[in-house]
Amino acid sequence: MTSQNPVFIPGPTNMPEAVRLACHVPTMDHRSPAFAEILHPCLDGVRTVLKSETAEIFIFPSTGTGGWEAAITNTLSPGDRVLVGRNGMFSHRWIDMCRRHGLDVQVIEVPWGHGLPADAYEAALREGDVKAVLATHNETATGVVSDIAAIRRATDAAGSDALLLVDGVSSIGSMDFRMDEWGVDVAVTGSQKGFMLPAGLAIVGFSEKAMAATRAAKLPRTFFDVGDMAKGYAGGAYPYTPPVGLMNGLRVSLDMLLSEGLENVFARHHRMAEGVRRAVDAWGLDLCAASPEVQSDSVSAIRTPEGFDATEIVTVAARDYDMAFGVGLGEVAGKVFRIGHLGMLTDAMMLSGLATAEMVMADLGLDVTLGSGVAAAQAFYRHGGKQQKAAA
Ligand SMILES: *Cc1c(COP(=O)(O)O)cnc(C)c1O
Repeated sequence: MTSQNPVFIPGPTNMPEAVRLACHVPTMDHRSPAFAEILHPCLDGVRTVLKSETAEIFIFPSTGTGGWEAAITNTLSPGDRVLVGRNGMFSHRWIDMCRRHGLDVQVIEVPWGHGLPADAYEAALREGDVKAVLATHNETATGVVSDIAAIRRATDAAGSDALLLVDGVSSIGSMDFRMDEWGVDVAVTGSQKGFMLPAGLAIVGFSEKAMAATRAAKLPRTFFDVGDMAKGYAGGAYPYTPPVGLMNGLRVSLDMLLSEGLENVFARHHRMAEGVRRAVDAWGLDLCAASPEVQSDSVSAIRTPEGFDATEIVTVAARDYDMAFGVGLGEVAGKVFRIGHLGMLTDAMMLSGLATAEMVMADLGLDVTLGSGVAAAQAFYRHGGKQQKAAA
């Protein structure tokens, strides 16, 4: 029965039963009107989640990584300069992809645990002919959220007309994301995080400016060509065979998120996250996130004491309790473990994760009092997440 445990990794996330069942569809002709009845609610629903009026939405059979590729290959040409901050493993991987595509990548190095610095973006933008600014909204490796609106302001202040391409893979659908208000030109996500689906879809939104850029962009693209996709959509279909089951799941997931209400979804994620943060405090541990304003509401990376291998927590949790937490990645491998708190989660589920984390840490000899973190989270959750933090 332990296979019924929820997971506490920052993707793939737990699947609501209704979403899982919706993925289970009989074979369907994807050129039939029945498919259009799945496609169109998906496109409209994603646009709503992105808080955009005008974005063109494209859904590829892929993952978030494919979404990165769609973002750059459709808008840029070989040798184009892109400006990007590196503050964790996911921003690092996107940088690597840009380099492999022959882009001229200017990297702003940011200490892991910190947010992307708008002032450094602005200074760099004043110097060079940057075609696109890249930013990871929520760095899943460190549990750090960055201020995308500030990066847009920095771009404008520098007088740059660069496109703003944003990785929202672990924020969209869990944390507030305002494509239009923030002036995001391409927003990237996938199916297996905030949308509570299995992996298998890259979901992207393109602004009008980004669509205009696609017409001049020379990077090679075929599978991820948004022009081909747009032509397909115009006929209610796809340029190739779509993953109908996943898309029907997405339709139901969007229904769930929008009927809960986006602001309620974000508030629930904040409550889950705050309970975890209270527990971390009670354990006497620190978050990787350097300051409260950059703490992510979808994932917490928790530092363990010097000399202790944080990966052990993940290994023992899986081996002895059949429960999944996230390992540290890249620079923080072995130094942090991660608790994913996005997607389908309730107070009760979260408490079970915290209780298990405590057992594992005690088993491994860390100085953590059983029940301490759980009690701190309980005290918070039982007041509907409204209890103020005691003065230090
Ligand atoms: C998960 C994740 C990705 C990669 O997505 P895949 O679906 O695994 O390809 C990219 N960026 C961020 C911030 C992520 O959390």
